[in-house]
This record gives sequence, structure tokens and C-alpha cells, in this order.
Amino acid sequence: MKVVVIGSGVIGVSTAYYLAQAGMQVTVIDRQPAAAEETSFANAGQISPGYSTPWAAPGIPLKAMKWLFQKHAPLAIQPDGSLFQWRWLLQMLANCNTEDYALNKSRMLRLATYSRDCLDALREQTAIAYEGRQQGTLQVFRTQAQVDAAQRDVTILKETGIRHQMLDSKQLIEREPGLAHSPAALAGALWLPDDQTGDCHLFTQALAKLAEQLGVRFVYNTQLESFIEVGKQVMGVVVSNAQGTQRLNANHVVLAAGSFSRPLAQRLALDLPVYPLKGYSLTLPLKVEHASRAPVSTVTDETYKVAITRFDERIRVGGMAELSGYDLRLNPHRKATLNMVLESLFPGMTEPAQASFWTGLRPMTPDGTPIVGASGRPGLWLNTGHGTLGWTMACGSGKLLADLVAGKPAQIQSDDLALARYRPGARPGTPAPAVSAQVGA
Ligand SMILES: Cc1cc2nc3c(=O)[nH]c(=O)nc-3n(C[C@H](O)[C@H](O)[C@H](O)COP(=O)(O)OP(=O)(O)OC[C@H]3O[C@@H](n4cnc5c(N)ncnc54)[C@H](O)[C@@H]3O)c2cc1C
Repeated sequence: MKVVVIGSGVIGVSTAYYLAQAGMQVTVIDRQPAAAEETSFANAGQISPGYSTPWAAPGIPLKAMKWLFQKHAPLAIQPDGSLFQWRWLLQMLANCNTEDYALNKSRMLRLATYSRDCLDALREQTAIAYEGRQQGTLQVFRTQAQVDAAQRDVTILKETGIRHQMLDSKQLIEREPGLAHSPAALAGALWLPDDQTGDCHLFTQALAKLAEQLGVRFVYNTQLESFIEVGKQVMGVVVSNAQGTQRLNANHVVLAAGSFSRPLAQRLALDLPVYPLKGYSLTLPLKVEHASRAPVSTVTDETYKVAITRFDERIRVGGMAELSGYDLRLNPHRKATLNMVLESLFPGMTEPAQASFWTGLRPMTPDGTPIVGASGRPGLWLNTGHGTLGWTMACGSGKLLADLVAGKPAQIQSDDLALARYRPGARPGTPAPAVSAQVGA
């Protein structure tokens, strides 16, 4: 069986790896010169099933209105001139109610928990190295109102069996001693001991090497032009590069092109509700003499929705969401916000002059859940729309899609992850507890 995967971000590479393990003959196409050069390049580094939460939550519309007028707001909206932007926003707002929030969160938790299990198995089998840590995540609250609001998530965490603990301000400093130097008043935190961290770029490049050893062919600097169609069936792709145009026939094509999945799918008249949600990160070297003041794991500041993550000798600070189309310009105000949050929680531990500032486009769906599964067009599969959690969900999404393509039974419920849930009137799946999956090779 020949499979072409479009995209060598963390999702495309994970998919290719598990497809090759299932015995498929896999070719990965990417326009970049190497794997993980776009959104998977410098994300916040959290592998956080426990923090798998849709942005579309009750109370968000009101909060969003307030954020629009704040200097260090986590969200900004600039009209991009498309009707799709407004349609996407309306779809997202329609999900901001208690019932949809619980349904979407349960789907996300299911896939994210499965994904962490797949990653654990992969690490055990291959000893893949990516500056990974398995020391949990901490969601830090600056106000009592945030502590109270976290009860909604705690209820779902209890129901779905995710280990967690609410910490008071003293306990959170015991967990992250570096926070003792913070000038900010901290009201408490939610600790998720089974969450993890790691550098997604290092991981994706290492996994691409492992995939190559299994026979996967990576074709870089090569652009998808169109799909080969015979009737309704997708039978391959047409790609172009400096050498010219080439047809690649395949039994299956997997679209894993991140935020660009939507314009590519439009070539098949498929309407993917995936919007490019722009985010920013800073990567800074740790001052060796202040390493003890750094986080041991990762901390998310709930007020600004900014995460601060420890890699070996570097700190990654990531966050913010701008709805501004495919614009990749670096906004210096966002850099100021990231620096402000870093200095407010972990002051003086990094070398700000050596910071590298980056932006990426999260492929975001209105309900926060990725689109993994059949496309409705025979021969075309979708693995996209992972939004804020693509690193968290990569291994599980790759393994799940590989099982579906190979015709093997999926190890988690997957009908409600496919594009079909967006068809008018569709309501597949009910809130289901996260499945404790048996992860095989
Ligand atoms: C600031 C920030 C912080 C984040 N923090 C976290 C985090 O802490 N934890 C977490 O789980 N997730 C996080 N994310 C989200 C995560 O990074 C993304 O969900 C994930 O990287 C998406 O991966 P992808 O493979 O779908 O997309 P990408 O990495 O963008 O890969 C898509 C690939 O498709 C290729 N492509 C596109 N069009 C074409 C074409 N026409 N022809 C050929 N190739 C094409 C691109 O070159 C690219 O390599 C964060 C994102 C941002 C921006």
C-alpha cells in the first residue's frame, strides 16, 4: 500500500512513522527544507492531556470582550478580509456553552491521554531524545476567581480519571521552588502530575530519522499542487519543486499540512473549519548561576495564557492568540508581554539579550478538537486542526490515523474526531470517559 503524507510537522511525521510501522510504503512531502520548520518549530513544549481544554468555554465571550481592550491580552482579533474568519468565530462562539464544552473537552482528553500513552511507549521502544521531562504541569492562578473557575475543570478531570491536585499558594512554591522569587501575588494552582514537556522540534526531527530507518521517504522543498482524482477517489498528488512537476500515485493521501490544510482541501471542494491562530514564543538561554530559580517543569499563567517551560539549558515562553489570517509578522508588543510574564513569575534567570522570538500559526478548529479520520472523499484522510495541542496529541493522532488507514481496529473511539461531526445536524459521540488504551507497537 502506497501512502503520501502532506506535511512534515509533528502531526505528519508521527503519522508517517506509525504508517510505516503498519507496513505501508510512505512518502512525506513538505515545502520546507526539513521537518518541523513551521508551527511545530518553537511551541511552548507542553505535553498536557490534563490541560486539554477547548478555548471555546462558557464565559469566554465576555472575557474576550475585556481582553480586546487590555495591553497584555492573550487574544487579539484583526479582520483578515475573509468571510471565513467571521464564520469560524461564530462557530467557536456557538461552542461556548456548558454542554458543548464538556463534550469537546472529553473528546480532547480522550485523544490527548491516548497520545501520552503512545509517546511513553515510543520513548520506551526507541529511547527517542528531545529534552523531555515527565514532571507534570502547573496551571497558576493569580486570583481567587480563577481558583473557583477551575472547579469546572476539576469536575471533568475527576470524571475522566486524570490525576490532579489543587494547590494553595504555599504548596505551589513547594512544587515549583523558583516561584518563591516571583513578585506576583499567586492565589493557587492546578497540578497535573502526569503531564510532560519536551522540545517538539527536536522530537519531530528525531522521529523523522526513525521513520526513515523504517523506509519512509521524505521529499523536502516540494510543494503540493493538486490531487489526482479518478471520479470521487483521490489516487495521489501532483507536486512541484526546482526540478519540475511530478505525479505521485498512491492508495491513500493524508493531509497533515497544519493551518494550510484548509486552502489545500479547498482544491477538492472540501470545507475544513481550520483557522490559523497565531501565537508567539521566546526561547532564552538559562543563566547558569541562576538555574535553581528556573522552573523544574512548566508553568502556565492562567491570567495571560502564557506557558513557561524548562528545556535542558533553555527556557521557552509561549502563548497568545491572534486571529489575523496567515500574517507571520513578528509583533514587538507580544514579545513585551512574554517578557513581562516571564519576569513576573521567574525573574532574572535568563539571558534576555540572547532571546529568539518566533511566531507560528496553530491550526485551530472552532470546537478545539482536531480532525482525525476519513475526509468523506475516498482515498483522502485528514490529520489536522490540532490547534493549541498538536504536540500533546501528535503520537496518538498519528497512531490512530495509521490504524484507520491500515483497516485495523482503532484503540480509542474515533467517530467523533472525523470531519463528519461538522456536517449540518451531525452530533456523533457522547461525552465518554478517556479510554485507558493498550498501546501496542
Ligand atoms: C506559540 C505556540 C505555542 C504552542 N504550544 C503548544 C504546547 O505547549 N503544546 C502543544 O501540544 N501544542 C502547542 N502548540 C500547538 C502545536 O505547535 C501545533 O498544534 C502543531 O505544531 C501543529 O502541527 P502540524 O504538523 O499540524 O502543523 P505544522 O507544524 O505547521 O506542519 C505542517 C507542514 O505542512 C507543510 N505544508 C503546508 N502547505 C504545504 C504545501 N502546499 N506543500 C507542501 N507542504 C506544505 C508545512 O511546510 C509544514 O511543515 C503551540 C503553538 C504555538 C504557535
